Amino acid sequence: MSKPSIYGMTYEQLKDWLMDHGQKRFRADQVWNWLYKKRINHFSDMKNINKETIGLLDEHFVLGVLEEEVKQESKDGTIKYLFRLTDGNLIETVLMRFNYGLSVCVTTQVGCNIGCSFCASGLLNKSRDLTSGEIVEQIMMVQKNLDLKGKDERVSHIVVMGIGEPLDNFDNLMDFIYIVNDDRGLNIGARHITVSTSGLAHKIYKFADTGVQVNLAVSIHAPNNELRRSIMKINKAFPIEKLMDAIHYYLQKTNRRITYEYIMLKDVNDHQEEAIQLAELLKDHRKLAYVNLIPYNTVDEHSQYQRSDSATIQAFFETLKEQGINCGVRWENGADIDAACGQLRSKQIKKMKPNRSRSLSK
Ligand code: SAH
Ligand code: SF4
Repeated sequence: MSKPSIYGMTYEQLKDWLMDHGQKRFRADQVWNWLYKKRINHFSDMKNINKETIGLLDEHFVLGVLEEEVKQESKDGTIKYLFRLTDGNLIETVLMRFNYGLSVCVTTQVGCNIGCSFCASGLLNKSRDLTSGEIVEQIMMVQKNLDLKGKDERVSHIVVMGIGEPLDNFDNLMDFIYIVNDDRGLNIGARHITVSTSGLAHKIYKFADTGVQVNLAVSIHAPNNELRRSIMKINKAFPIEKLMDAIHYYLQKTNRRITYEYIMLKDVNDHQEEAIQLAELLKDHRKLAYVNLIPYNTVDEHSQYQRSDSATIQAFFETLKEQGINCGVRWENGADIDAACGQLRSKQIKKMKPNRSRSLSK
């Protein structure tokens, strides 16, 4: 078994581990500081830490498990990374620039089992969950790349919207949130972190119970069961009524706003009727609801879907507004570099030799 990434440990876990291994409590603060503030690349770079402790860490952990395979930079400043994991699997991470800061989109699983019909990630089944270390390292790799530019730029926001269903990798997701949010480390504000789910209702209850103050986004994509089931098979296990019950529980527990993601698929879910149904579905909590209309990104040339045209998206938006629903349209970043989730990875896998691609995508 290869050694785990030290970035996968929360501050508390690291402190307990060090104390269990005969180290003083303050060592945890020192190590944490070297990891996340000074952002070293080798344990031996930790100047004020004795050789014995460094040897201990070296023996049990590694500092980097991701390798940069591909890096694409878009004209608008979006940077898309393809990282190779120690087992050869590939994952995607995207850095996006907004007027409010730098946001990183992270991956939580290798592939995804939810299998939404419009999604590139869903076309490649899940082979495994990412560890908390592999999720944190995506942020560290991007931040260390920014550090090298010497412009003092900092990742300020995170969206958990890359490949995978985050709530299906619940414990590692939570550790990731605790680690990046820790004010002794990266200190990325909970309100600057958004977790997107396809609607695993039972996990939404659990998520609400953790009490974390991060934002939740729900991929709703259709306002009725028949239509939703036809594009998201997860709707069979968690139909809209069950999902809405879980959301009401979440709202009651947290009083936080929910974002609903709605992908605009031409002639599938983009009629006025669906906008009205969606407004109806959300009206009992409209003050805490925000709808993000996402123009569909073509997955590949054989895709059964097309993006709704701009006039239709605008009309859908207007209808929601008229019905008193807060909403916006998410025009994409990095359109020239396959920035939609899973696209770079699925292209890269296709490019590889057939025998290799099979072992990667399983
Ligand atoms: N599994 C989670 C998070 C990752 S997907 C979820 O589904 O919510 C993040 C968002 O991208 C989701 O709203 C998803 O529906 C959307 N998405 C997937 N494929 C897309 C595509 N081809 N074009 C535009 N958005 C897409
Ligand atoms: Fe998985 Fe989300 Fe893609 Fe659906 S949209 S297949 S849940 S990554």
